Amino acid sequence: ARQFTRPLNDLANQFNTILSAIAGAERVFEVIDEKEESADETNAIALKEVKGEVEFKQVSFSYESDENTLRNVSFTVTPGQTVALVGPTGAGKTTVINLLTRFYDADGGQILIDGYEMKKIQRESLRRHMGFVFQDSFLFEGTIRENIRYGRLTASDREVEEAAKLANAHSFIMKLPDQYDTVLKQDGSGISQGQKQLLSIARAIAADPKILVLDEATSNIDTITEVKIQEALQRLMKGRTSFVIAHRLNTIQKADQIIVLQEGELIEKGTHESLLKERGFYYELNSSQISKI
Ligand code: ADP
Repeated sequence: ARQFTRPLNDLANQFNTILSAIAGAERVFEVIDEKEESADETNAIALKEVKGEVEFKQVSFSYESDENTLRNVSFTVTPGQTVALVGPTGAGKTTVINLLTRFYDADGGQILIDGYEMKKIQRESLRRHMGFVFQDSFLFEGTIRENIRYGRLTASDREVEEAAKLANAHSFIMKLPDQYDTVLKQDGSGISQGQKQLLSIARAIAADPKILVLDEATSNIDTITEVKIQEALQRLMKGRTSFVIAHRLNTIQKADQIIVLQEGELIEKGTHESLLKERGFYYELNSSQISKI
């Protein structure tokens, strides 16, 4: 993953930077470096508040004209639900997220947020209601306080600390030499991988978005920190619509809705129990090696 040396002030920039981490592949960086986003439609609206309902209606999409990356994908998510996106590598999970966050526009079908067609919502207003927690947390060289506040630049010191407490990050922060004023180094040394994740959760809590996108880590994190991360994530996800590119069986089992993708098609959706009963692809994945999906 890339490391950043200074805060990026431009929200759109931050957004692209973070999105580039989803796939973490060099090709994505290339695309992002070249990509210019289209301007908002003239009558695009600003969403002041969002409940977090998301609907994909027969969505199709191709990165290149000759191949269909997503075909006729339809699903509805009610506010506050947790959705696990599941499927083999290359199935289209990240692409669903790229469309949801409007990094790309769908070629066919519609994506609705609270019933509003996404293309009719101002991009920035849409993204203000979205938060991200990824495997590689995007921390920049600066103090811990600045890194958390980056979620919402107007957050007070107290709000930053409250977010850190909810994220189970406060206690480790207080043990650092300069506590909230500790400067994170550019190379990321000084705090552990798990602690970085707690900070990115704190940042998301401070931002208070209605729609969350989580890319679940599979990296080696010690058990105690892992428990802290899980607990913090539960708090973060409560009351928010959450999309998880899921790797942990536990997360998948607890999801309100599992969306199973295969080669760009939504082949099954339901809960863990209902999908097991169907004895389809999910059942096969589950009984073979769920940790690999
Ligand atoms: P998943 O997240 O399930 O692993 P992706 O959504 O990343 O799957 O990829 C779906 C398909 O789209 C794959 O065939 C992948 O190679 C292709 N793809 C993903 N990102 C890009 C891109 N930026 N440009 C061209 N093709 C892409």
